[in-house]
Amino acid sequence: SGRLEGKVCVITGAAGGIGAESAALFRAEGATVVGVDLQDDFEGVDLALAADVASEDAVIGFLQRTVAEYGRLDVLFNNAGISPDDDVSVLDTTLEAWQRVQDVNLRSVFLCCKHGIPLLLESGGGSVINTASFVAVMGAATSQISYTASKGAVLSLSRELGVEFARRGVRVNALCPGPVDTPLLRELYASDPAKAARRLIHLPMGRFAAAREIASAALFLASDESSYVTASTFMVDGGLSGA
Ligand code: NAD
Repeated sequence: SGRLEGKVCVITGAAGGIGAESAALFRAEGATVVGVDLQDDFEGVDLALAADVASEDAVIGFLQRTVAEYGRLDVLFNNAGISPDDDVSVLDTTLEAWQRVQDVNLRSVFLCCKHGIPLLLESGGGSVINTASFVAVMGAATSQISYTASKGAVLSLSRELGVEFARRGVRVNALCPGPVDTPLLRELYASDPAKAARRLIHLPMGRFAAAREIASAALFLASDESSYVTASTFMVDGGLSGA
């Protein structure tokens, strides 16, 4: 049987590149998947819900709806995130732009953990996967200070929670993808293909990740196969941070 048989999973950003691949993979492994995104017009999940993950009411809403519909929560994959414009110096970063990135990338993870972990505890334990990034552990030189800072904070928050709940059956890990070929990345490099080429030079594998390769790492962290993995910084970056 599947590696997530009987598990109820919430995936945020489920309409996006990594989220949609993860939803497909989780379901193929037997999970029931509630997908959350800004709009609910996407497919490939058991239940699609529209919510802004930066809103506390919205977060409480989709978590309660999940438990009302399926009776439990086992896996919480906090994957939604935004990337601001590339190559904007801190000197030109507005407070508003900074704040929106912190709200969507960081405040959302805090809210989902605050309101989701009690539900995982009620289910007798579970797995939280928070999507950080390679930029959380190394200088990325992308001049995206708000993004980098938000992902660094997601990483430290995840480690802290992993330690706090280690004895109570809730595992919390930070998944750190390298550059992944998704709409987010394509948009970032659309204006300047030379920038993509520069990034590729530094990638030991010489290519970007496919969303599927991040999804399969998420599957491992979601499943009981990773039962001894918590508070980890889980790099899936083609060797980028190791080089
Ligand atoms: P994506 O843009 O394809 O998907 C992100 C999804 O999140 C989109 O469907 C978007 O609608 C949704 N979303 C955005 N704001 C939201 C909000 N406020 N509420 C609910 N949903 C919202 O991007 P992706 O590449 O699949 O990224 C997924 C995660 O992986 C993000 O956290 C991103 O920062 C991270 N990441 C991506 C890369 C990469 O190279 N693509 C690298 C490292 C980390």
